[in-house]
Amino acid sequence: MVTVDKPAVLTRSKKALLSVVIPVYQEGNHIKSSVKVIEQVLLEHGIFYEFILVDDGSKDNTWSELKSLAGSSDCMTAIRLSRNFGKESAICAGLEYAGGDMVLVMDADLQHPPELIPKMVDAWAEGYDVVEGIKHSRGKENFVYKLCARFFYYIIYKSSDIHLGQASDFKLLDRKVVEAWKKLPERAIFFRGMSAWLGFERKEIEFDVAERVNGTTKWSLLRLLRLALNAITSYTSVPLHCITLLGIIMFIGSVILGIQTLIVKFTGKASEGFTTVILLQLIIGSAIMTSLGIIGIYISKIYKEVKARPRYLISEFYKGGDDKC
Ligand code: UDP
Ligand code: MG
Repeated sequence: MVTVDKPAVLTRSKKALLSVVIPVYQEGNHIKSSVKVIEQVLLEHGIFYEFILVDDGSKDNTWSELKSLAGSSDCMTAIRLSRNFGKESAICAGLEYAGGDMVLVMDADLQHPPELIPKMVDAWAEGYDVVEGIKHSRGKENFVYKLCARFFYYIIYKSSDIHLGQASDFKLLDRKVVEAWKKLPERAIFFRGMSAWLGFERKEIEFDVAERVNGTTKWSLLRLLRLALNAITSYTSVPLHCITLLGIIMFIGSVILGIQTLIVKFTGKASEGFTTVILLQLIIGSAIMTSLGIIGIYISKIYKEVKARPRYLISEFYKGGDDKC
C-alpha cells in the first residue's frame, strides 16, 4: 500500500494523493524512462503520487517492463488488459483503479509535458475540478491531419455544443469527477468528449505537443476515422436529422422534376434524357447508400450498448515492491 500522509477529510492540500494513469501500448522501449521522468517531476515538487500503468494488450516487452516497475516501487500498479481494447478503454481501467484525490491521465510517450503537472495540481488546489491540457501547437502533424482535426472538433461543437477546442487526453480530474465518470453506463466512450460533457469547474492550460520520445504513433488513418465516427455518433444525432433533411430536399426536387417531365411528355417535346436519368440514378443511389450507412452506424452502436459487454477485461494485475514512495 502507498504510505501517504493523507488527511482524513479530503482537503485540497498539497498532501493530497495524485494518481497518474497511463495507457500503454507497445511502448516497451521507453516506458521505464518515461515513468522515471514523470516521477522525477513529482518528487521535485513534493507531490504525493501513485502510478496506474495499464498495458493495453501490447505484444512487445511492455508488460514485463510494467511488472518490473511495479515490483520496484510501492507506488506503481500495473494492469494488463486481455487484449488491445483501445486507448479509451485502457484509460477507463486506469480510472477505475486510481485511488487518488485527483487523477491525471497522460500518454506514455512524454508528448504531454510532465513539467506541466505541478501547474495542474496547483489549479486543482485552487478549486478547479477538471484541469485540461489544451494543445497550443499540435506538434509534427501534417497539414491534412491538422485540417481533419479542426473539422472534427467543429462538427462536434456545432452538433452537440460540446466545445473540445484543441482538447487532449492530458487531464487532471478531481475525485468527484472520476466518481461521476464511473457512473456513466455506455460502452463506447470518448474520454475527451465525455469529460467535457460532465461539466464541473474547469481550467485550461495550454501546452505544446512534444516530439514522441520513441516509436511511432499507434493511430493509423483508419483508426482515427473510426475514433472520429465513434465520437461524433456518441454525442450527436445530427447526422440522422441531416438524412431527413436530405430526403425532404430530394423530395421537393423530384416533385419539380416530375412536373417538368409530365409537361414535356404531354406537350410532345419529350427528349431522350439519357444523361439526366443516369445522373439522377447516381445521385439518388449514393444518397440512399450514405444514409443507410449512417443509420447503420447508429444501429451498430445501439447493438453494442444492448450487448452491454464490459469495456475491458483484465488478465493480470500486479502490485508489489518494498520501497515506500
Ligand atoms: N495507446 C493505448 N492503446 C492503443 C493506442 C495507444 O493505450 O490502442 C496509448 C499509447 O501507448 C500512448 C497513448 O495511448 O500512451 C497515445 O498514443 P499515441 O502516442 O500512439 O497517439 P498520438 O500521440 O499519436 O495521438
Ligand atoms: Mg503520442
